[in-house]
Amino acid sequence: MPDSPPLIQDVLVLGAGSAGLLAALSLKRKLPHLGVRIVRSPDIGVIGVGEGTTPNFPQHLFDYLGLNRKHFHAHAEPTWKLGIRFLWGTRGRFDYSFDQQLDFAAPDLRMPNGFYCDDDFRCLSLPGALMWHGKAFAKQDNGCPDIQGWHAFHIENEKLVHVLEEAARASGVEIIDGKVTGADRLPGGGVAAVHLEDGQRLAADFFIDASGFRSELLGKVLQEEYISFSDALFCDRAVVGGWDRAEEPILPYTTAEQMDAGWAWQIEHEHHVNRGYVYSSSFISDEQAAEEFLRKNPKAPKSPRIVKFRSGCYRRQWVENVVAIGNAGGFVEPLEATALMIVCGNLQTLVEILNRSRFRPTPSLRDLFNELTGKAWTDIRDFLALHYKLNNAPQTSFWEHCRAETNLGNAASLLDFYQENGPTGFCRYRLSGMQNDFGLEGHLVMLVGNQIPHRASYTAPEQERQRFEARRQQFSAMALAGLDVKDTLAFVRHPGWQWNGDTPAG
Ligand SMILES: Cc1cc2nc3c(=O)[nH]c(=O)nc-3n(C[C@H](O)[C@H](O)[C@H](O)COP(=O)(O)OP(=O)(O)OC[C@H]3O[C@@H](n4cnc5c(N)ncnc54)[C@H](O)[C@@H]3O)c2cc1C
Repeated sequence: MPDSPPLIQDVLVLGAGSAGLLAALSLKRKLPHLGVRIVRSPDIGVIGVGEGTTPNFPQHLFDYLGLNRKHFHAHAEPTWKLGIRFLWGTRGRFDYSFDQQLDFAAPDLRMPNGFYCDDDFRCLSLPGALMWHGKAFAKQDNGCPDIQGWHAFHIENEKLVHVLEEAARASGVEIIDGKVTGADRLPGGGVAAVHLEDGQRLAADFFIDASGFRSELLGKVLQEEYISFSDALFCDRAVVGGWDRAEEPILPYTTAEQMDAGWAWQIEHEHHVNRGYVYSSSFISDEQAAEEFLRKNPKAPKSPRIVKFRSGCYRRQWVENVVAIGNAGGFVEPLEATALMIVCGNLQTLVEILNRSRFRPTPSLRDLFNELTGKAWTDIRDFLALHYKLNNAPQTSFWEHCRAETNLGNAASLLDFYQENGPTGFCRYRLSGMQNDFGLEGHLVMLVGNQIPHRASYTAPEQERQRFEARRQQFSAMALAGLDVKDTLAFVRHPGWQWNGDTPAG
């Protein structure tokens, strides 16, 4: 009989950014008898950007981890994000709401929604209509917001980290301040312990590397191979700067706006408007990017912060007894705000593997984890590549390069299929795996939103077109009667407000 894999009892998490804290919290809450410690360096600090999420993030916090909603909303102060408004492509503007606008076929219509959207692409669903009208939620009969699970959050990184740290401590996670300067290896190749600058040695039998872009364990100690996505995603820097909100309404979506050498985000916090310009340093200098950013955003600070990054991931996220979570394992540029989505998805898989293997994960389970997480990275790479390749509007050298040179990876066969068959649900069979929240809907939004020509166009008879329009008007009317972010914040802060099925505070 071969030896059984080693038992995991003590976990050390390196890093206390959002990834490290979510890792510690997920392990401790779901597998309470594991010993979980975090070591983090206050001198290095956290990256401090990353403020849009996808819908799996609130689900992870509340449904999976069971955090108390009232407490979280009071202290982390998120606002609701229903999707992304793209100021993009030949239409100039279209909305991607996190529900099914296009991957939907009404029973009384012959074709799925996308076939009716050559000219007009709005209000195809309730969330789509809410976004269009700047509202967050529909109103219930009693006047309260009808808060459904298809929303994501806008959330300030500092507040999020603070609340997660408090929750981790309350769940029994120990947090040690210290800078990791090296590691002892196990005879078989894994990590036995890390050394701190002050001479301490912290041993554990399992390590989570959540050290951000420094990737202290997976990258530096274990020297895992790094796979660059630079043939698909050309942006590598961001100018970041926002301002205190004055009269601007709090929009219920992120805005992504094409720029000369990339795109700019606008993320909506209650008291702060958060802007950033993601660009390619091969096409524009930092100074030129800052100038373009400031021209567009005269209220932004005169010397905005520059953040450098690379898009790509390590070949394996789990090597020996080290799993990387967050930026330490990989990063793709933030066009769809995917980092926390990947963190939560990977953590749920990891917890499941540890639990089902009774804390003795086999090599083949480790391989499976690497297969699934590797696929999650490449699916998102291909999805983002589509955003660049399909944008036919801007005529700068950066965008010409994107149209000509972006490697679509597995999304290339979807594009071919779409050009022949249009926005049909059959397109889903040309997606490679969909290990993410976007699925066919996200891809169709890019294809239809960018008005990519196809050979299956459909002209609906007049009566059918009227039925399509009637449904749209119904959504529009419901949305117009809805509540905006400010109204909804007032509701959830009222002392009498109760979240459905909320867990006890603490
Ligand atoms: C421009 C930009 C925009 C982004 N936008 C989004 C977005 O909208 N949505 C999203 O989900 N994500 C976004 N991200 C990604 C975001 O950074 C991550 O989601 C998130 O903050 C997780 O970071 P992290 O915890 O992996 O790393 P960090 O926040 O960098 O944390 C690293 C931790 O490791 C510790 N550490 C590192 N080295 C050592 C050492 N030697 N010893 C001890 N401790 C150490 C640090 O002290 C820190 O605690 C964006 C990133 C960039 C660059």
